[in-house]
Amino acid sequence: MQVGELTQPVAELPGIGPGRSRELAKLGIVTIGDVLLHLPRGYEDRKSLTPLIQAQPDRPVNTVAEVVAHSFFGGRGGKTLRVHVKDDTGIGSLACFGRNFLAKSLPVGKRIRLFGTFTMRYGELQATAFECEDADRDPVKFGQVLAVYPLGGTLNQGDIRRAVAAALDRYGKNVTAEIPTRLAAQRQLVPTSQALERVHRPKEIVDAAAGRATLIYLELFFLQIMIGLRAYERQVRHRPARPLPSRLLDEVTRRLPFSLTGDQRTVLSECLGDLQSSAPMARLLQGDVGSGKTAVAFLSAVPLVEAGFQAAFMAPTELLARQHADNAAQLFGSDVSVAFLSGSLSSAQRRPLLDRIAAGDVDLVIGTHAVFTAEVRFARLQYVIIDEQHRFGVSQRVALSAKGAHPDVLTMTATPIPRTLALTVFGDLQISAIRELPGGRRPIETHLARHGNESKVYEFVRRELEAGRQAYFVYPRIDATGALDLRDAETMWQELCERVYPEFAVGLVHSRVDDDEKRERMQKFRDGTLQVLVATSVVEVGVDVPNATCMVIEHAERFGLAALHQLRGRVGRGEHQSYCFLVYDEGLTEIAKERMRVLHETNDGFIIAEEDLRIRGPGDIAGTQQSGYLRLRIADLAQDMETMNLARTDAFEVLESDPALTLPEHEAVRRAVDSARLNGRLTPFAKAEESE
Ligand code: ADP
Ligand code: MG
Repeated sequence: MQVGELTQPVAELPGIGPGRSRELAKLGIVTIGDVLLHLPRGYEDRKSLTPLIQAQPDRPVNTVAEVVAHSFFGGRGGKTLRVHVKDDTGIGSLACFGRNFLAKSLPVGKRIRLFGTFTMRYGELQATAFECEDADRDPVKFGQVLAVYPLGGTLNQGDIRRAVAAALDRYGKNVTAEIPTRLAAQRQLVPTSQALERVHRPKEIVDAAAGRATLIYLELFFLQIMIGLRAYERQVRHRPARPLPSRLLDEVTRRLPFSLTGDQRTVLSECLGDLQSSAPMARLLQGDVGSGKTAVAFLSAVPLVEAGFQAAFMAPTELLARQHADNAAQLFGSDVSVAFLSGSLSSAQRRPLLDRIAAGDVDLVIGTHAVFTAEVRFARLQYVIIDEQHRFGVSQRVALSAKGAHPDVLTMTATPIPRTLALTVFGDLQISAIRELPGGRRPIETHLARHGNESKVYEFVRRELEAGRQAYFVYPRIDATGALDLRDAETMWQELCERVYPEFAVGLVHSRVDDDEKRERMQKFRDGTLQVLVATSVVEVGVDVPNATCMVIEHAERFGLAALHQLRGRVGRGEHQSYCFLVYDEGLTEIAKERMRVLHETNDGFIIAEEDLRIRGPGDIAGTQQSGYLRLRIADLAQDMETMNLARTDAFEVLESDPALTLPEHEAVRRAVDSARLNGRLTPFAKAEESE
C-alpha cells in the first residue's frame, strides 16, 4: 500500500476511540495515512547529554541529576514546590507549578534523568517545563530523539506519539514507493517507508532531515504531476471550434455607464478567444480589488448566453453572491435572465428555481458553493466563473467542473499570485491580469497611527463623513471574549455610536450577525443610510461601496499583508480620494513593521504579493497556507522553491514521455494519482480539502 492509500479511519489504531478520533480530526488527521503524514514540528534530543552548566534558553538540559532539597515559594495559598537538583556540573531547581505531588516521587537523594529548558531566574537556573524519570531504571522517555508534534484540541504529545507509533508499527513498514526507482536514485531519496520512520523516530536528529527532504520532494513532485495531468487532460478534450455571436455583447457594452480600460478589453478578448476555441477555457484572472474583473467576467458570458448556453458564477460568501446578482441584473436588464442561488433559500423558493435552471430558463446562475450541490442540474451549463479563487478548494472546483460537459472555467483572484508561484501552482491555467485601475481613480493614501493617537484618525474621518463620504472600521475580533487586550467590533461599535460619532448612523456586521440582517445592514451602508460600518474581516472580500473613502483598521498588526491589502481595497472604488488608516499597537514585531512599511509604500497588489512571500520567508508554514494559495502539508513554498523546481522538471519529464501514465514503470505514479483523486485530495500527500 502507498501512504495515500491508507484511508482506513484512525479509529482502527489501537488506543484510538471515538473521542480521540474527533480530536485528531481537528488537526486534519482522519485516516491512517494522515497520522503518518502528521510531521513533527521539532525534536527533543534526549540522547546527547547537556549538563546544567551548558544550559541556554534555546539549549535544553539533558542530564542525570540528584535531588538535593525541597522548598516552597509563592505567597498566600499559592505554595509551589521547588525541587533543587544538582548534576556533576552545577545546580538548578524545578518549579513544580500545580505539581506539588512531585514531592513524593522526587524525594531528596533520588537520582533522575532530567530534560528541561533552564533559564536564569532569581539568581539561579530554573526550569518550569521539564520531564524526568528514575535514573536507576531502564530509560523510557530518555536515551532517544523524541518528536514534538503540532497539537490541537485536548491532545498532548504523548497521545500523538502513541498514535504515530501504532501507525508506524502496523502500517509504516509496508508502505510502498510512489515514484520510479530511477528517480528516487537520481534525487537521492530514501524509500517512503524509511522516510516516515526517520521523521517520526529518528535515531539521530540529522536522520530526520533526510526523511523530511524525501517527503517534501514527493509532495511537490505529485503537485506538479497533478497540475501537468490537468493541463494534459484538458487539451485532449477537443471540441469543434465555435464562433459566438456578438450582437448582445455589443449592446450590453454600449449600455455600460463607463468604457472599459485597455486591460479590461485585452482580458475580455482573451476570454472570448478561449470560449470560441476548441479546448475548454482554464484561465486565472488576477487583478486588484476594484480593477473591474467582475465586470469583464459578466461581459464574457454574454455571447455564450446569446448562443443558448448557461453560465454559473460563484462567489465565496452569500453577501457577495447577492451583491453580484443585483449588479448583474442591473447590468443586463431583460437581456439575460439572472438567478441567485444560495444555501439559505427556503425549499419553497428553491424548488421552482431549480426547475427553471434544469429547464434552461435561467441564463446566469449566481450563488455560493450551493451551486455545487448534486440537486442543482443545468440544462446547458458551459461556463463557470469562480470569484476569489483561493477561497475555493480544488476539490470544489473539480466537483463543479464535473457538472457540465467540460465547461470553460474562469477563476478570478484579487490576491495576486507572485510570479514564482503562479508558474508552479497554477501551471495548468492560462493567466490574465488587469493592472490598471479604472476610470480616473486616485491611489489610496495610507497612513499609520499608533494606538493612543487614534483620536486624530477619528477626527479626520469625521471630516470625510461631514463631506458626505462613508467609512469602514475593522477589528480583529467580534467581541471581548477571550480577554485578550484587544479592541473588538462589538465594543467599538458601541463606542463609535455613542461617543465618537453620535451624529452619524453606525452599523455593525460580522460573521455572527444572521444573513438577512447582515444583508439589510450592508444594503443600508450601500444606499448611505448608514455612514459608518464597523466590521470584522467579513468585509474583506468584494464589498463594493464607491462612496466609502475611509478604511480604518485597528490592531492592523494582527492582520496579514494580503488581508490588509484586501481590506484597503474596499475603499478607493469611486471618484473621491480615499484613505486607509492602519492603527497599530506598541511593540510591533519586525515582520509587522515590514508589513506596515510595504502597505505604506505601495498600492500595487502584485508588488505586495511578492513582498508577502519574501517577508514571510522560510519556515512560516502557517503563513503560506493562510494566504490560501494551496494547502500543502509538508513542503513550504517559500522555503522549498529549489526542490519545487527539481520536482517540476522531473514530473514534466515523466508526463512528456507518458502523458497518460500508462507505462509499467509509471504504474506506482498512476496509483498515487488515482488514490488522491478518489479521496478528493490535491496530492497523495495533501490534507483533505476543507469544505467551506
Ligand atoms: P473587481 O471584481 O475587480 O473587484 P468590479 O468589476 O467589481 O471589480 O468593479 C469595481 C467597480 O468598478 C464596480 O463598481 C464597477 O462597476 C466599476 N467599474 C468596472 N470597470 C470600470 C471601468 N472601466 N470604468 C469605471 N468603472 C468601472
Ligand atoms: Mg470582486
